[in-house]
Amino acid sequence: MIILIIIAGLTAATVFLALGSDEKSRRIEELNSDKSALQALNNFNSGDSSEILIILKNLGIDSKDLVNTMYQSEKEAFGDIIDALESTDTSANADGVNDNEDKNPDKSTPQPNNGGNEEKPVPPEPDEPAEPAEPESPYLALFPHLYADITPPESYMDDSGYIYLTFDDGPSRHTTDILRYLDKYNVKATFFVGAFDDNNVNYRHLLNTILDSGHEIGVHTMTHVYRDIYASVEAYLDDFNQAFNLIYEQTGYKPYLFRFPGGSKNDFNTHIYKDIIEEMTRRGFVYYDWNVDSRDADDANWTTMMDLVINGVSGKNRSVVLFHDRHGGANTVYVMDDILKSLTADARGYTFSIIRPETEPVQF
Ligand code: ZN
Repeated sequence: MIILIIIAGLTAATVFLALGSDEKSRRIEELNSDKSALQALNNFNSGDSSEILIILKNLGIDSKDLVNTMYQSEKEAFGDIIDALESTDTSANADGVNDNEDKNPDKSTPQPNNGGNEEKPVPPEPDEPAEPAEPESPYLALFPHLYADITPPESYMDDSGYIYLTFDDGPSRHTTDILRYLDKYNVKATFFVGAFDDNNVNYRHLLNTILDSGHEIGVHTMTHVYRDIYASVEAYLDDFNQAFNLIYEQTGYKPYLFRFPGGSKNDFNTHIYKDIIEEMTRRGFVYYDWNVDSRDADDANWTTMMDLVINGVSGKNRSVVLFHDRHGGANTVYVMDDILKSLTADARGYTFSIIRPETEPVQF
């Protein structure tokens, strides 16, 4: 470093010899200052930066200007000094150490230049541990109004001894008979409606009758054609949306319950059922499978249906029983009176209820 300063000094001297006499006088004065500055620079280089700042201030020399003008030709060699000076807040330090009026006895601590009123910098708040972001649903854009209008319960009810009778595929030409038997025994049930094809089209008004009678309605399906419904998540949502809208248009009621055609996990949806459940759950819908199957859709005979339901219920703490309300089979109506008579007379005292938001789902 000293070598560099000597080189710079020689450069300055060379320039000096080339100048006129008046100019020489001025440069002599400048060089007297420069000598001090050179010494200061030397000190600065040995680590005492405050000394150079004091000296430069006393000389009335702006340190950056000094370096830039005096050693312009050697700027490259003195680049590190220039960089160091430019990164030093000379005004703050110089004011603090060179002010004769300064009564602050602690000269070693640079003082803020606004008289000490500067607020301490507040350290940034440590970031809250970031919650893992929920991956956005790929189906957000589909059916933007298809959401359940329900607040999830804080907890499920104790429903030991409860029986939830459910009827799929209606309303049909058997619905009125089913409702009559339910009414006879003062039993409330849940209807997962759909299959709104040509067969059901003339029975849509029974959706209102079902609700007016105190029963519950959930969505089952629009077409009940497995291969179409379960072709993709989008296809399922499309089918569901049609049934949902039809129920709402007919009754003004927005169902929040649903039941998958064939149950939540079946031979047709194994590739997408988890995705469908995730998306339907995101939209607030709740699905129920069953834990007692009457086999009425399989044309089971009277004895088989009675045994399956009566024995099935007696072996459960709480039961969701599957029946059907469809055009194809009259055996549901055929056995309904006897099943209801038996269950309502049972000494265990079952409670019959519609499925409620507080009813813990029965799912496969
Ligand atoms: Zn069905």
